Amino acid sequence: MGRKVAKVLAGIFAVILILLTIVLIKTVLFTSKQVKAETAGDFTVDAKSASQRLSDAIKISTISYENNADFKGAEFLKFHIYLERSFPQLHKALKKEVINKYSLLYTWPGRDLKLKPAVFIAHMDVVPVEEKTIKEWKYEPFEGRIAEGYIWGRGTLDNKSNLLGIMEAVEGLLAKGFQPKQTIYIVSGHDEEVGGSQGAVKIAELFKSRGFALDYVIDEGMVITDGVMPGIAARAGLVGIAEKGIMNVELRAKGAGGHSSMPPRETTVGILCKAITKLENNPFPARLDGPAKYLFDYAGREMSFPNKIIFANLWLTEGLLKGQLQKSNTTNAMIRTTTAPTVLEGSNKNNVMPNIARAVVNFRILPGDTPESVLEHVRKTVNDPRIEIRAIAKEIQPPSPVADIDSKNFRAIQKSIRQIFPDVIVAPALAIAASDSRHFTGLTRDIYKFSPQIFRKDDTGRLHGINERIALDNYTQLIKFYMQLITNS
Ligand SMILES: [Zn+2]
Repeated sequence: MGRKVAKVLAGIFAVILILLTIVLIKTVLFTSKQVKAETAGDFTVDAKSASQRLSDAIKISTISYENNADFKGAEFLKFHIYLERSFPQLHKALKKEVINKYSLLYTWPGRDLKLKPAVFIAHMDVVPVEEKTIKEWKYEPFEGRIAEGYIWGRGTLDNKSNLLGIMEAVEGLLAKGFQPKQTIYIVSGHDEEVGGSQGAVKIAELFKSRGFALDYVIDEGMVITDGVMPGIAARAGLVGIAEKGIMNVELRAKGAGGHSSMPPRETTVGILCKAITKLENNPFPARLDGPAKYLFDYAGREMSFPNKIIFANLWLTEGLLKGQLQKSNTTNAMIRTTTAPTVLEGSNKNNVMPNIARAVVNFRILPGDTPESVLEHVRKTVNDPRIEIRAIAKEIQPPSPVADIDSKNFRAIQKSIRQIFPDVIVAPALAIAASDSRHFTGLTRDIYKFSPQIFRKDDTGRLHGINERIALDNYTQLIKFYMQLITNS
């Protein structure tokens, strides 16, 4: 036996050696995609008065309510006047248009009118504060208190710091006699938190009617994470390059209802539940393409050697990685269209079987899938003629196109982040929450969702939650970031 076995063993050994060599070479060549952190522009920010202006903006309660009857237009008009008073240079140099009574559009003409304009979006409305949580706030949500190194209150993160920050940047640049190369629009909708149909939608329609083609759009959506991304010690500036779509699909099982004393072998409720179980057991395939792939391509290069091996060798490790990613709900949502049954309706009497049992399943559609392909998947998976399946048409929102990460615009954002936050690594990512910029789809491919706010682990709960706040030094950096980006664009 000796010689044959030795030959086989030598063969296996050689193959392993070759594989190892490839893995190692790939890992060594998997070098950083970060641009060199150049020195930042010479921007001075009067941090004290800028913070005071943000604090005063928080005091004006521009709240979007689910019930439109609660809307208080006067607060929004007060906010407009407040902006005018706070940013006199901006209001002199930029053209201001009030759209649909409450939303604002500013035009800052560029030096070269042949260049396509850029759009900076930041909404002015905030979500309400739940009555029962008010006691848990350290400082009153609409007090705008400056304390402990933070500005506190509803809107400090979402999204008045961005709006005021952009305005501070423009005001500061105007004071230096600066004029941008390309025209810049500032878009501030008044109903982002309830869908944007009266604000950003109208402004996007106006742009379309004026025949605009845009260079790029920057809006809230993703932030700088600190200690949140597993495997990365550095802070990570995640730039959203796409957002998932949303679709609700209704399933209805019809059959004979009636008294529960003599049930058929299969009831409408049973039939419906089997369908839902089938959908849960047959998830959409996990995909490591598009934004998720870009994220790992950028972030993986910044990881420690053992982790780097995995991301540098997806040809070998993709299956393993997918398996790991789908273990957590957060990362699972990044790599597939998700299936979430939300509504379940049957009878409301304990001894009556329903004629119709109804369910709604909420899908979050990954770029690459479409509402049509999702519906097709549902039909095929359920595969039961007793169940009526239909998409709730008015609630369909296809996934956004994926913005270009090789464009000069992405590079300008990346460069600006690295200039103001030299230790931050930049990576493209899939945006989690929808925002006003989605209404600008079709005006440009390059819609980026990034706001230079720093989020630690416990900060995500502050968005729409309790004790929303922004650190004073972070606010100054945020203003400088916008100055830098406008200068770099
Ligand atoms: Zn927001």
